[in-house]
Amino acid sequence: MSLLEVEDIDAYYDESHILRSLSLEVEQGEVCALLGRNGAGKTTTLRSVAGARPPDVRAGTVRFRGDTVSEMPAEDVAMSGIGLVPEERRVFPNLTVEENLHLSQVARNRSNTVGRSVRASGDVRPLSEIYEAFPRLDERQNQMAGTLSGGEQQMLAIARALRQNPDLLMLDEPYEGLAPQIIEDVEDAVERINEAGTTVLLVEQNAAAAMSIADRCYIIDQGRIVFDGDSETLRDDDETRQRYLGV
Ligand code: ATP
Repeated sequence: MSLLEVEDIDAYYDESHILRSLSLEVEQGEVCALLGRNGAGKTTTLRSVAGARPPDVRAGTVRFRGDTVSEMPAEDVAMSGIGLVPEERRVFPNLTVEENLHLSQVARNRSNTVGRSVRASGDVRPLSEIYEAFPRLDERQNQMAGTLSGGEQQMLAIARALRQNPDLLMLDEPYEGLAPQIIEDVEDAVERINEAGTTVLLVEQNAAAAMSIADRCYIIDQGRIVFDGDSETLRDDDETRQRYLGV
């Protein structure tokens, strides 16, 4: 059984049919990438898994550790161990790095009253572990989040999600707008997180960067999965890359 199983989901924004019988699986412990052009349906896929609405998921099933989560509200999906870092990195600019990290704890405590039955264990991850994974944030604990660089804000957004101790961390275009050197720093952080035991589903338009850390890749095109294979296979498959990713 895979950690995450998405089976034949159909998702809509009003009457626009976006995801068409989309299926994918993420195995425990891996870094899996979902690649595709602008507008292919990547964000819609992550929102469908996370229980975020819209879109409206009208058919199919999402299972996490074998349990169906597709009918659950987003808060309960998060409590069951799925973390999502959305495209727009939401940090509180006028709070320090450390205050931002404490806020995620508040959010978790509040949702505990709703989600207690969903996730039996799952304490917040200690700040010391977070700082170990993100030495940059450690150095900037008392700095206002708004004054961090784009890459550091991305790391803070990821760190906030990690505080909830997710088993699966879904990242929506974490490299967007970052300089190549900074992308490497974020990649290193994602690799450290994965090595420490968190499974990662990475959505990217930057196929080269995603393939460099992903074990396996899916390509989505017009709401359908059109490729499923390991990163090396995709790296060697010029035709598929050209056709669906333009690289
Ligand atoms: P991007 O890199 O642009 O985020 P993506 O692969 O993540 O691309 P989605 O954001 O999932 O693509 O969008 C898939 C399709 O759904 C696009 O045609 C987009 O215009 C449409 N769409 C996305 N969000 C909404 C919304 N809230 N309402 C209506 N249509 C939407």
